[in-house]
Amino acid sequence: MMNKNVLIIGTGLGGLSTGLRLASRGYKVTFVEKNKQAGGRLNQLKKDGFTFDVGPSFFSMPYEFEELVRDCGIEMPFEFVELDPLYTVSFRGSNKQYSLYKDIDKLSAQFEGVEPDFKNKFTTYLKKCEELYNDTVDIAIKQNFDSIPAYIKALMQVNPIHLPVLVKTFWKQITSHFESKEARQIVSLIAFFLGRTPFDTNAIYTLLSHIEFTHTGYYNVKGGMYTIVTSLVSELQKLGATFHYETEIKDYHSHNGKLKSLTDQNGKSWEADIFVINADAAFFRGTVFKRKKFAPKKLSKMSWTMGYLTFYVGINKKLPQVEHHNYYLGNNYQAYAKDVMNNPGTLEKPYYYVNVVSKHNPDCAPEGCEALFFVCPVPNLLYKKNWNDKDEIVSSIIEDFSDRIHQDLSKKIVLQMEYTPEDWHNQFNLYKGAGLGLSHHMLQIGALRPKNYDEEFSNTFYVGASTIPGAGLPMAVISSKLVTERILKNG
Ligand SMILES: Cc1cc2nc3c(=O)[nH]c(=O)nc-3n(C[C@H](O)[C@H](O)[C@H](O)COP(=O)(O)OP(=O)(O)OC[C@H]3O[C@@H](n4cnc5c(N)ncnc54)[C@H](O)[C@@H]3O)c2cc1C
Repeated sequence: MMNKNVLIIGTGLGGLSTGLRLASRGYKVTFVEKNKQAGGRLNQLKKDGFTFDVGPSFFSMPYEFEELVRDCGIEMPFEFVELDPLYTVSFRGSNKQYSLYKDIDKLSAQFEGVEPDFKNKFTTYLKKCEELYNDTVDIAIKQNFDSIPAYIKALMQVNPIHLPVLVKTFWKQITSHFESKEARQIVSLIAFFLGRTPFDTNAIYTLLSHIEFTHTGYYNVKGGMYTIVTSLVSELQKLGATFHYETEIKDYHSHNGKLKSLTDQNGKSWEADIFVINADAAFFRGTVFKRKKFAPKKLSKMSWTMGYLTFYVGINKKLPQVEHHNYYLGNNYQAYAKDVMNNPGTLEKPYYYVNVVSKHNPDCAPEGCEALFFVCPVPNLLYKKNWNDKDEIVSSIIEDFSDRIHQDLSKKIVLQMEYTPEDWHNQFNLYKGAGLGLSHHMLQIGALRPKNYDEEFSNTFYVGASTIPGAGLPMAVISSKLVTERILKNG
């Protein structure tokens, strides 16, 4: 219906893309956002001539963005940059660096003498992942479900050939294909991208290996990831959408099964015909709507993803020896993965990721300098409450990184900023600083995930990582498609 007022709470990718779909259909869209600028986790830090991507540094399934702009009748407002190699991986104590090329021959060459017959094994593994992807994506991922029976009925359409996978972990599936520690760890690394580990992630998610290597690979955006946000905001403004920053929703007023208004931290009331919540779908229900099912005790029993200690470092030196995206692993993968979710002790020898954003975007650092973004998986605030030791952890990682790249960085650092899980929690209202929101545990996906429509208010909907389908940038865009379908049906 035309000209209805929609209030969107949060300007994460899910909120922005829903706003764009609705504004392009004639809805009058208003955003309220807790922070000073749009983007949510897809954000940007700028200081002293350095520019950093705050969270996401690459994404898969670019065609979801293409579908978004087609759906809104606009041109693609930013440019994709394909990554090849996808990223590098190295192990503590070894100078060998694996470059994950999409070309299977170039990739396999690196496993010579490490994993016999890697090419054939990897091809067989990827074939299986592709079948899993093809047989589940439309049925289980890109769907709105009206009830649990409807969800179960949909799952029953999945080819039964995949049933054995459903009772395996990601790691078990990997070990049935590869023997060497290197191949097993490198191929299973992607399970960490879901915010858990290969040991507690279902083997169904090996479909991600298909997305990673054969289906689309990974992409960046010219100018840095935040260009996605600035260009979507600009498209929204062209369609008349308005943005109100430093506005945090704290309370609500409802009448006759409908949400009437939301109240911000200053007591100002925000009315609308339709409300879309882009804040965490579980946490918001608990804290603002005070729903029993999402009360603090219930929330703490749900399965959440790990926290992230992220830090942003400007150095006055170029690092030609370091690629754009790099994973630095230790030598105790299994023990590390077992502990990383809940044991602060693992931070003695952390595993981490380094992104050199200035590599492909020279404007992100002053001349002769480099902008480095570190991500270290850590226990979220449920398991590690005190972050007074963050400086020690950060120093130990920079020291380890210096060793590995044979370049002492301690005297080259001109800028350093950190976000602990506490900061992620405080800044974006992420429950306990769990970086990716609710986990993709089998009992928390599909119709079992917090719904994208409200249980009580017929004019209230949800979009983003903790509702369907889940975490990651392409999923946020799919989430906006699913919630828009609901709103249009309801409207
Ligand atoms: C360190 C890190 C690295 C990542 N790397 C990648 C990657 O490489 N690739 C990838 O695809 N994904 C990555 N992700 C995941 C990706 O960032 C998220 O899945 C995605 O950005 C989530 O978008 P969203 O729409 O759910 O909302 P969010 O980005 O969480 O936005 C929600 C917005 O709502 C606002 N808000 C919350 N509560 C209120 C309130 N009460 N009132 C007003 N506003 C409120 C918040 O401030 C925020 O702006 C990463 C995440 C992290 C943390």
